[in-house]
Amino acid sequence: MSAGASLGAEVAGAIDISTLETPCFVTDLGALEANLKILADVQQRAGCTILLALKGFAQWSTFPLVRKYLAGATSSSVAEARLAREELGGEVHAYAPAYSDGEMRELLTLADHIVLNSPAQWRRHRKTIEHARLGGRHISCGLRVNHEHQEVEVALYDPAGPCSRLGTTRTNLTAEDLDGLDGLHLHTLCQVNSDALERALAAFETRFGEFIPRMKWVNFGGGHHITRPDYDRELLVRLLTDFRARWNVPIYLEPGEAVALGTGILVSSVMDTFHNGMDIAILDTSATAHMPDVLEMPYRPVIIGAGAPDEKPHTYRLGGMTCLAGDVIGDYSFDRPLAAGDKLVFLDMAHYTMVKTSNFNGVRMPSIALHDPVTKQITVTRRFGYHDYRDRLS
Ligand SMILES: *Cc1c(COP(=O)(O)O)cnc(C)c1O
Repeated sequence: MSAGASLGAEVAGAIDISTLETPCFVTDLGALEANLKILADVQQRAGCTILLALKGFAQWSTFPLVRKYLAGATSSSVAEARLAREELGGEVHAYAPAYSDGEMRELLTLADHIVLNSPAQWRRHRKTIEHARLGGRHISCGLRVNHEHQEVEVALYDPAGPCSRLGTTRTNLTAEDLDGLDGLHLHTLCQVNSDALERALAAFETRFGEFIPRMKWVNFGGGHHITRPDYDRELLVRLLTDFRARWNVPIYLEPGEAVALGTGILVSSVMDTFHNGMDIAILDTSATAHMPDVLEMPYRPVIIGAGAPDEKPHTYRLGGMTCLAGDVIGDYSFDRPLAAGDKLVFLDMAHYTMVKTSNFNGVRMPSIALHDPVTKQITVTRRFGYHDYRDRLS
């Protein structure tokens, strides 16, 4: 998903990639810390608690830095909850559309907050959860609600759309359903500014306000683009402060994308070029296997030094190295003709990329690296190979 990047072309262009292996994700610790400082400032001024949503960004080699600024993480699966517990620490929150009995037993050893998607899920797991509490685990449970007010334009990313399976709507909720629950959770935003949160909160209070006084916490989910340069943080702080004053209840936010927005690049090499109706270049990266949101969202990632088609003298269709016909990143123009071995740098590639890569076609997943802004060193922390492919099959 693209947005204004704090690690813009200038800063990213200064990272020395001349000897870097490709394909490789490189996250800049300076840009990440700048985002974390913004979030910590909001946390402090608004008196809320901010968690990292691992679904969007789970590069755990950065967690020593994340830990300094955020209170913990939220997870959408048992595996994410375990990563949060083992690699990040702090508060571990969890939500999923449904939990099996086995998953719940495992989650109870990991999570501090568990959000259920429906009253039926709460009824199903309540006894197991209460049993774990008797064993000494402090676990606070909540219900995800759906106020059905839409702020997201892309249906794929809109939890509040018609026939949504995410969250309990007001007509499906009775006061008795909330017996034993401590919190209400809403997540209906995606890549939006704080004016969207203002409207979403109004819808939440209209639909579910009667239940807020009995709650120990509320969680406003993710989708807040807090670290984007044009994000209205003053409004966010005011909305959260006012909400707390109105309802006297602690607030959690759990952004994923905003933590890693503009903090990383994907470095790729040109493998081949030829002409078939237009100039075509094959890269050692792939839209479908390495940056699937390019096809799913869809969006056009920014490449340093490249322009729109025909803006510069040499226009190419950039394609991946899988056999999927539609594995095309887009058409871009360049000052010089591309040649095998040229490196291309895709901007804003830290979030919703590493967590979504696949071994489709058996292609290697990009290596994962950190860039230290002080020493200017790039450290490759993970390389993938044949066994990563083999071991996900049998
Ligand atoms: C995806 C998700 C988030 C994070 O959303 P971003 O758009 O990455 O900020 C937070 N909470 C829940 C429940 C989610 O599904």
